[in-house]
Amino acid sequence: MAASCAAARGLSVLVLEKQPYAGAKFCYSGMGAAPVSNTKIDVSRFHGRNARFVSDALAALPLPELRKWFADAGLQLEDAPYYGIVQAPGGGGEVIEALGQHLESWHDSQHVTGIERAADGFVVTRESDTPLKAKAVVLATGAANLPQLGGSNDGCRIAQSLGHSIEAETAALVPISVAEDWVTKIPGVWMDVGLQVMHGKRSLANSVGSMLFTGSGLTGEVVFNVSRVIEPALSAGAELELAVNFHPNLSSEDVAQWMFRVFGERSREPVDRTIDHILPARLGIELLRRQKVKRGARVMQMDERQREGLLREMLDTRLKIRGTLGLRAAEGVSGGVNVREVDPRTFESKLVPNLFMVGQLLDVQGDWGGFEQHFSLASGWLAGHSVLKNSD
Ligand SMILES: Cc1cc2nc3c(=O)[nH]c(=O)nc-3n(C[C@H](O)[C@H](O)[C@H](O)COP(=O)(O)OP(=O)(O)OC[C@H]3O[C@@H](n4cnc5c(N)ncnc54)[C@H](O)[C@@H]3O)c2cc1C
Repeated sequence: MAASCAAARGLSVLVLEKQPYAGAKFCYSGMGAAPVSNTKIDVSRFHGRNARFVSDALAALPLPELRKWFADAGLQLEDAPYYGIVQAPGGGGEVIEALGQHLESWHDSQHVTGIERAADGFVVTRESDTPLKAKAVVLATGAANLPQLGGSNDGCRIAQSLGHSIEAETAALVPISVAEDWVTKIPGVWMDVGLQVMHGKRSLANSVGSMLFTGSGLTGEVVFNVSRVIEPALSAGAELELAVNFHPNLSSEDVAQWMFRVFGERSREPVDRTIDHILPARLGIELLRRQKVKRGARVMQMDERQREGLLREMLDTRLKIRGTLGLRAAEGVSGGVNVREVDPRTFESKLVPNLFMVGQLLDVQGDWGGFEQHFSLASGWLAGHSVLKNSD
């Protein structure tokens, strides 16, 4: 986006991409949906101490303007029928093509190894080619997640070599593993839940949305959205729990009434069968087992304590967090270039004139489902309109 906007202004632009195909990581994102934005894009979907840093970028290129930008480039974005995702009808490749429309020079398989300041700009060194001179540089190298798809901390290393400070990168938008074995025994169970990461009585992050049980733990929108706080807290020695509410859209009184009504109407039925009126059956059976309800027992054989225990589990199951699946499985990162050293109106470094830094390289965390992508594109848009502005 930065390159395209700068080229549209008549600047001579060269894109250097280390992968054989630019945009591979983006095309893989959002479970292959390659989200460009989200219909709920808003500053409130960004988190941590730097959340407000994204405001200028989102205001400069709000969703209607982003749609218009792509429409002018010949691509009508569409709203996916799930998660509010905004995407290209034919997938991420169409987005990359639209972004490349103004670019004459797009060089794949060009691994940038360093950037140094020079008399009139920068010298950019490449792994297997001669160094290049540039008046300005936009660093858009993403983050260190998914190294198997090109993710690296090159951008942080280069920014640091130019004097910037870096917040350590840890996995975000990532599946979570928990100590309780039963969680991994019901892979494929999927439902909307309310999820909180608890440190003692303090909630460190919370979200409502879909969660999927897998053979290695928990994943899905809501898990991704709370995962950013886990690695920093665990490495500071905190013991963390997940608090799961399996009926987040009902009050606890409504859930209680519902459960007691269902049990009242089916008191002679096996509880293993009845449970699927209030929970996915495989999950329900695990929660019943935790209440020591025998397989095959009838509803009327459940005692008061077991009913109360099941109700408590439906509203507030506690799971001990072991960790995340790490940077190799993470769709985002927490950490990156310190944004206090970057101007949010232009994305130019406050320390190095004519150096711009955009996207996931910066220490900004957004929710899963197109929020980080929108910020990446909007920050690129601002950088592309600001780079070498005074020499226009
Ligand atoms: C699997 C997956 C799923 C995701 N899902 C979502 C989602 O649902 N919602 C959301 O908002 N965000 C999601 N993200 C994050 C989102 O894709 C990123 O925030 C966004 O793509 C960042 O854009 P970027 O341009 O900053 O970095 P990237 O898209 O990562 O692009 C950086 C590029 O720089 C190249 N590069 C790196 N180092 C060098 C170097 N030294 N020399 C030359 N080139 C280099 C890389 O090869 C890469 O092509 C997901 C990411 C992944 C990987």
